Amino acid sequence: MAAVPDSPPTTDAADQAGALKAGTVAALLLDVYRRLLAEYGPQGWWPGDSPFEVCVGAVLTQAAAWGNVEKAIHALKAAEVFSPQALDALPEGTLARLIRPSGYFNAKARKLKAFVAHLRERYGYHLDAMLAQDAQTLRQELLSLYGIGEETADDIVLYAAGKSVFVIDAYTRRIVERLGLAPEMQSYQGYQGLFMQHLPPDAGLFNEYHALLVRHGKGVCQPAPRCETCCLVAVCATGRQRREPGAPLAEAGDLRGAPLLEAASTGGRQPTKSRRPGKRPTPGSRSSPAGDR
Ligand code: SF4
Repeated sequence: MAAVPDSPPTTDAADQAGALKAGTVAALLLDVYRRLLAEYGPQGWWPGDSPFEVCVGAVLTQAAAWGNVEKAIHALKAAEVFSPQALDALPEGTLARLIRPSGYFNAKARKLKAFVAHLRERYGYHLDAMLAQDAQTLRQELLSLYGIGEETADDIVLYAAGKSVFVIDAYTRRIVERLGLAPEMQSYQGYQGLFMQHLPPDAGLFNEYHALLVRHGKGVCQPAPRCETCCLVAVCATGRQRREPGAPLAEAGDLRGAPLLEAASTGGRQPTKSRRPGKRPTPGSRSSPAGDR
């Protein structure tokens, strides 16, 4: 068997991306989604009992495994300080000690303090009022806060507010590149535009799609990809190159008859306690070691 490439076949990928028209890109993105959903099933993101927990988790998961984020959140709940008001009143050093399991705890304590101070000053601690804004206004407001970069902001917009924005992370970039769909502009906006310009603006679809990409990036499309077991091999430039150099890709839409997902046609959804299974896949750590800014 041929050696597994660590990096995407850029020439092949660029050729494929260049040859794809917008409609084909849209069909391929939906085909990839359907294949991932058929392989893994709904992921039930985001793990959290409330929008506030999603916001806290989105900050704490920067450069942290989700299990450690859960430990930090558990510590906050055990100390009975898991509310915007209580975190605002808590000394920063005490907060840092409580969230120690999540790593970078001093920086993250400062970020959480900035977030809840903003909630107090502008919304009287009413997170719902903040999240009720339109997606772009909310996103820009979040980006203006200390320690919240694009990925964290989009996590909050999508998973706490239930608004349609596509979250980009390292898993998504890697899979997109290997599929041969890397955008010309290799930036956060470039990758986000690929999804948001070619898919319907459906928060349920974006919610599930991002979660599935993380699942796939963690388990199969790893730095050394396991193409031989991959559900996307028939439509992936890298997988095709490894398996059968010169063979054509499958037509996008082979699974067109498969259901998208009930949530994908019903808009965004709030993470609720009732949705939480006993054990389920979890968000990956943030793309950059120090958080996204
Ligand atoms: S076939 Fe699958 S594992 Fe291999 S590069 Fe493509 S998406 Fe990744």
